[in-house]
Amino acid sequence: MAIEVTRTYVGSIQNQRQVCDGLDSLGDAASKIWNVARWTIDRIWDVIGEIPDEGTLKAYMKNQPCWKDLNAQSSQKVIEELSDAFQSWFDLRQNDAKANPPGYRKHGDKRPKSTVTFKADGFKHDPENNRVRLSKGSNLKETWADFLLCEYQTRPDVDLTEVNTVQNVRAVWNGDEWELHFVCKVELETNDSAGDGVAGIDLGITNISTVAFPDEYVLFPGNSLKQDKHYFTRAEYDTEGDNGPSEKSMWARRKLTERETHFYHVLTDTIISECVERGVGTLAVSWPEDVRESDWGKTANKKLHSWAFDRIYQYLAYKGERRGVEVLKENEWDTSKTCSRCGDDTRSNRVERGLYVCSSCALVANADCNGAENMRQKITPSPHGEDRSNGCVAQPSTYLFDRESGMFRTREQVVS
Ligand SMILES: [Zn+2]
Repeated sequence: MAIEVTRTYVGSIQNQRQVCDGLDSLGDAASKIWNVARWTIDRIWDVIGEIPDEGTLKAYMKNQPCWKDLNAQSSQKVIEELSDAFQSWFDLRQNDAKANPPGYRKHGDKRPKSTVTFKADGFKHDPENNRVRLSKGSNLKETWADFLLCEYQTRPDVDLTEVNTVQNVRAVWNGDEWELHFVCKVELETNDSAGDGVAGIDLGITNISTVAFPDEYVLFPGNSLKQDKHYFTRAEYDTEGDNGPSEKSMWARRKLTERETHFYHVLTDTIISECVERGVGTLAVSWPEDVRESDWGKTANKKLHSWAFDRIYQYLAYKGERRGVEVLKENEWDTSKTCSRCGDDTRSNRVERGLYVCSSCALVANADCNGAENMRQKITPSPHGEDRSNGCVAQPSTYLFDRESGMFRTREQVVS
């Protein structure tokens, strides 16, 4: 079966020196449009006491001289980003009265290099020759046909001649140089289902993922992630200068992001591979959303981690899609309180030291495994405890992230 999905591929610019001045002016223009629009919002607010919507703001901005520094669609995109930023602020303010509205884009008296998006008529792509032509706004053109011609290179396993359509191209300043992001529609061949088996995942903080496979429980601790966070955050604070983030602190921040991304990719690759090997075609992921407010007291920490959970879920979903594992988001309401063996949820609760003790059937189990098993049973409501023994839940396998190989290994493999 073939399905169409959206993917973003990064291209490094080969003729950086020839195009960087041009891209600098476009990135600066995007910041300027943002700032003028931001200023316009304040003025309208002062007069009518309302923040203008996207359409109104665009209508105002079209008469500003800076509008024509970029291709019209690129300028519109800046206004869309600003409107989105205001929308997020409205949402945030519901819970946090102190949230700040979107600010101006400036570093001291200079403007940062903003991302510039080129839509349909703003770029011309020549994938055969690894080139893309980016349109300038009429104010920045020296002749009527003036544009920036970028030569790029993608990762060796990416071939842009094979994608269906490039929807848009973004020029992004990565802190060192400009790079191109190609947002593409891609057709994927999906595999037939990996099997009839069902697995459940509990996402957590100490154990980033706990998976209940039909035949085994596996824990994936986040220890290396925690160490990286500690080390690089420290490096970031230590080098923070009086004039904002120093080069070194920006390096530390970038490095941490890279490490985290790598960790999440390896984690989700490993889980999906294990599913395929064990004939698991359905994977239920615990989802902390829509949980009743009263339950947030205990799970407030989980809410803070929801961005990480979302990332794990996204990675699992698209990796699973290709390999025949359907990934379902399931509400985790009650999964931590219910006994996975007898279904009792009245008296029992999560007890200390990560152990779940059932007062009804006397099950003593790793609490994360109990949660993951409940998740699994949401999809296959098997008689509680069928083919399970206490030992199975109490003594799960642990896969540790091994820095040396960049892979997950069982504890025995890491120690030996
Ligand atoms: Zn029980």
